[in-house]
Amino acid sequence: MTSEQTSAKFKPYTRQSIHQARQWQWMPADLQEAVQVVSHVLPFRANEYVMEQLIDWSNIPDDPIYRLVFPHRDMLHADEYEALRDLVLFKKDDAAIARQVHAIRMRMNPHPAGQMTHNVPRVNDTPLKGLQHKYKETVLFFPSSGQTCHAYCTFCFRWPQFVGMDDMKFDARETTELVSYLKAHPDVTDVLITGGDPLIMNTRSLTEFIEPLLAPELAHIQNIRLGTKSVAYWPQRFVTDKDSDDLLRLFERVVKAGKNLAIMGHYSHAVELRGEMAQRAVKRIVSTGATLRMQGPLIRHINEDPRSWAELWTTGVRLGAIPYYMFVERDTGPSEYFSLPLARAHEIFQAAYQMVSGLSRTVRGPSMSAFPGKVAIDGVVNINGEKLFALQFLQARNPDWVRKPFFAKFDEKATWLDHLVPAFGKEKFFFETEDDHSQRAPQAKVIPISVAQRAQGKSCENTHSAA
Ligand code: SF4
Repeated sequence: MTSEQTSAKFKPYTRQSIHQARQWQWMPADLQEAVQVVSHVLPFRANEYVMEQLIDWSNIPDDPIYRLVFPHRDMLHADEYEALRDLVLFKKDDAAIARQVHAIRMRMNPHPAGQMTHNVPRVNDTPLKGLQHKYKETVLFFPSSGQTCHAYCTFCFRWPQFVGMDDMKFDARETTELVSYLKAHPDVTDVLITGGDPLIMNTRSLTEFIEPLLAPELAHIQNIRLGTKSVAYWPQRFVTDKDSDDLLRLFERVVKAGKNLAIMGHYSHAVELRGEMAQRAVKRIVSTGATLRMQGPLIRHINEDPRSWAELWTTGVRLGAIPYYMFVERDTGPSEYFSLPLARAHEIFQAAYQMVSGLSRTVRGPSMSAFPGKVAIDGVVNINGEKLFALQFLQARNPDWVRKPFFAKFDEKATWLDHLVPAFGKEKFFFETEDDHSQRAPQAKVIPISVAQRAQGKSCENTHSAA
């Protein structure tokens, strides 16, 4: 197996360079302005492949991938947009822009679900850099050189990192600390390497992070997962990049070492898997013995159509991938723009599920990566005349909670677990106890953290990196 030497060169676009793309001239002035203004608040990065192959420019701004990658004025409140527009376009006052941008970002709940306060592993009370340990069997690892992406999703809940809000300092000791931590935790079976996107790294760098995990003293590590959106935003990574063959050889080495290598592929829409390059990427990944699992969040304006999900899962299964998760969009960033009511999310999931064969029904969802764990909406039921949501934990901080059915009052407007009220007149859900008020995450506010804690990573569970 060899890569083609007709390899396309990766070409990114940012706010500073997007006007050089030929498509920029096709955008009406109001859309150009929105990109220039809103990208001060939310991260913006596109690339030539996304622009040329995935976006239908005759259908902007409604094209799903355009909505996914390009900032839009409605992602800010109207008064915020007007004020920022005035500063960016006319006053050009950098200090005032910075103040306004910061205020908007803080309003956007930049650190949801206890990421900065509750998931950071410690040794002798010292936080470990670039690690998270939320669920008993899985450790998340954030290599320093994988903290960016081939393009940025406007909904991304890791957006504070990409706009420089977080002081994320990782260094060369990461692998050493990771290995020491894993040696001391024989109950950990899974390591998820995530970002950003670890596949932004070249193969040589990625090898340095993966090979230590193959050591005999880490025999308890059975599954190595790589969370990535490159399967959609830059499938050339597996096909024509100059070290793509080396990457496949690395995958083969991991499999040969007796580990399950799981590529956690983040897909947002069926169009991402229609192209020949994307399909070849899937085939080349699975040909190494690695598995490719498909997951992504349900997002208003982007993938509300169940047919898109059904096509995505069906195509993926035909190529050898495994549908895994449909997530609920998280309560951060421009979530008012992107979020859908849980009731609607359940309808979309159910409709898509009914369209596909049993082989695609490995998918789970719609699932909220909430503070206590991953909660799936199983259905809407009527019990004793009361309309309810039936829910369960697919993953939880406390393993005893997993797969325990529980119920909440039906609420057609609720978009997140925190909005739900327990059924049957109860005051608390079973996982909320008198002496642990922390089981619900603080809402819409920034959790005070120490400088040391601020240096830690965050998981990307609602996207391509679910543990
Ligand atoms: S969702 Fe994933 S690919 Fe998209 S910007 Fe966030 S980390 Fe990057």
